[in-house]
Amino acid sequence: MSTTFSALGVPAELSEVLAARGIEQPFPIQEATLPSTLAGGDVLGRGQTGSGKTLAFSLPMVARLSQAPKRRKARFPRALIMAPTRELATQIAKTVDPLAHAASLRTTVIYGGVAQSRQEKAMAEGVDIVIACPGRLDDLIQQKIVDLSQLEISVLDEADHMADMGFLPVVRRIMDRMPTGIQHMLFSATLDNGVDKLVKRYLSNPTVHSVDAPKAAVNTMEHHVFVIPNDDKKELVRVLAQGTGRRIMFMRTKHHAKKMALALSKAGVPAVDLHGNLSQNARDRNLAAFSSGEAKVLVATDVAARGVHVDGVELVVHIDPPAEHKAYLHRSGRTARAGSDGTVVTICTPDQQGDVATLLKQAGLKVPFEKVGLDSKAVLDVVGEVAELVPYVAPVKQPQRQSPRKSSEAGKSGSGRSQRAGRGARSGRPVSDEARRSEGGRRQERSARPPRSAGSDRPARAGQGASSTERAGGAGRGSRQGGRSAGAATTGRGPRRATSPTTRSGR
Ligand code: AMP
Repeated sequence: MSTTFSALGVPAELSEVLAARGIEQPFPIQEATLPSTLAGGDVLGRGQTGSGKTLAFSLPMVARLSQAPKRRKARFPRALIMAPTRELATQIAKTVDPLAHAASLRTTVIYGGVAQSRQEKAMAEGVDIVIACPGRLDDLIQQKIVDLSQLEISVLDEADHMADMGFLPVVRRIMDRMPTGIQHMLFSATLDNGVDKLVKRYLSNPTVHSVDAPKAAVNTMEHHVFVIPNDDKKELVRVLAQGTGRRIMFMRTKHHAKKMALALSKAGVPAVDLHGNLSQNARDRNLAAFSSGEAKVLVATDVAARGVHVDGVELVVHIDPPAEHKAYLHRSGRTARAGSDGTVVTICTPDQQGDVATLLKQAGLKVPFEKVGLDSKAVLDVVGEVAELVPYVAPVKQPQRQSPRKSSEAGKSGSGRSQRAGRGARSGRPVSDEARRSEGGRRQERSARPPRSAGSDRPARAGQGASSTERAGGAGRGSRQGGRSAGAATTGRGPRRATSPTTRSGR
């Protein structure tokens, strides 16, 4: 039978926090790595997003810090978690904070794009666990606001994404400032692009754990390619935006993502955008609106793809096909998380068919190309399926509006053409080119939606994929320095409390 967190050595105070959130049985990556990581061992996690890796590193981190209590010192964190995006850092903090709170440890989040003052203040007051994006962290280190020389535990999350974003030199500079011999946990879907070098340089005899490759992850997804003339593409997007479940739609440019979110909202489908042009506040607000269900649709660019960790996304739509297969897998990975099902639709104009075919082949997928119209059964089936998956709101069934529509209504929902009843309803017309134009003309990153409050939604999850654990060699460390630019929130905690004696494994 499956084991429990306590049986693996997780202190009761932490497993109680998990139990209160309905998390009772470890996922494979947790089961495989906790015995070693709780004893201070290094780990190389090859788990995909949704595998439970955040708890896999948060639990041993908090457990080990609380088991070896030390006085909190200004500027000197005891543990660091680096993540490539602000969204991911924020989401990691949501997992770590309740655990840290139970252990009377203090955490703070550090990232760019917001004022430095709060981060400075947090560090001056003393923080046990820092969750940071590399750019701003590097800045603060240069300014002597953060000092890693007394670090005990380091986590590098989504190292492959860091590499894609060109962060590795900064990451290396930061890691070179850590003491040698500390516990390192590194998570990366792939070892390309120099991630393997990081593994060799910093990890010492790590436990290596793989939970499916990204390709295998798509097994729980249903893939469609809908081929449609360019002229009908926008309308198809509106049809696919119907239904009640959460869906993420990807576009290539920030500008288009913003415009599409506005257009969908105006068409009556609450949508928000997520892309690099948004201020940090707008990003947080939009993501929170999407997490809480206030907005059903998130229109995002690739940059946002990896940072979005929202459960219960039933449909991913590639409005613009991604440039390469890795991006396809990462974007698509926003659905079918943690064992649940998901549907992925790529919208393909006739001239894009060659590129899309290549991309899918590289992703290891065989997906038939379906020529569709707005009323095609294949399209409505996807909308219908998705609607049926979500129990909390009745599937979209537009009341047939028989009575003559007032001009204001016509203006709101489009051109004045009648709306269709049933699943594909409201897809009817471009809803407001004029409206979009006027919105689009407005300056700045006005995002499509209001909102706030991130919900911690958690759907039931099925079993995880096949996994494997082994030990691998690795060694070597170094020391150096470096420099660069860019925000934070603190979770203050009560007084520290001594707990049971240390279980450090000398390494
Ligand atoms: P992650 O891969 O860390 O992003 O986790 C994906 C999702 O799985 C998050 O919503 C976690 O809260 C959830 N999760 C992680 N571990 C478990 C577990 N052992 N049981 C149930 N849910 C879990």
